[in-house]
Formats: sequence, C-alpha cells, structure tokens
Amino acid sequence: MREDVGVDDRLETYEVGSPWITYVYLTTDRQTRLTGRSKIRGECAICGTDQTFVLRIPRVGPVPEPQGGRNPERVGFVREHQHTAEQRGDRTTWAKPLRNPAGLTLDVFADVVGRAVNDARVDRGEDQTTDP
Ligand SMILES: [Zn+2]
Repeated sequence: MREDVGVDDRLETYEVGSPWITYVYLTTDRQTRLTGRSKIRGECAICGTDQTFVLRIPRVGPVPEPQGGRNPERVGFVREHQHTAEQRGDRTTWAKPLRNPAGLTLDVFADVVGRAVNDARVDRGEDQTTDP
C-alpha cells in the first residue's frame, strides 16, 4: 500500500492531505502491463476540474518509484487545486460536495441538501428560506 493515498477501494482513492482531490484508476494492473501505460483521472471536488494522467510503466519487471515518490503531474495537480482555506472549509460551495465521502458527516448532507433546495426555490422564483 502506498502511503500518500488512502486506499479503501482498489479503483478509487483520494489525496489524504487534500481529500477534495480524488483519483480514479482507469486501467487495471493487467492493462497497464500490456500497454505500458497507466491512466489515472484526478478530480477536484471544489472546482470540478478533472485531468487524466498517463503514466509510463514498464511492461515487465519492477515498477520504479517516481523521483520524490510521486508523479510530477500529480504533484502539480494537487498544488494547483489547494484553493483557499475558506473554499476548502465550506463544502456547500464545492462543485461536487459529495464526491469524496471521507470526513462527511450528516450535517454536511443537511447543508448540501438545504442549499440545493433553496437554489431550486430561487430558480422557480419562490422565496428563499434557510429551512428546507
Ligand atoms: Zn480545483
């Protein structure tokens, strides 16, 4: 198991220090070895941006650790998507607030649903309320 990612699931994981950044592994280990390439989609739940990383992996033999232990493109993606502390702290402002359930509490669900209900009321031209 790698130390820099939280691994609950083999195909999806997230950046432990930045849990709004998730990764989906688009290729299986077998496909990676056959093609020599591993595809991983990184996604930022705060702004909704996603980017696919294509990593060259040897078809045979051990897989070398990238310099510094992490792929440079991934390091850049994480750096680009730190956002402000205010944005990070308020999931109701995120493009995909429920993308990574790590750390979610029922309060967050209530906030997100409340905001969505209010937005729908505003869209329909009804009065806005804080109590859905
Ligand atoms: Zn972002």
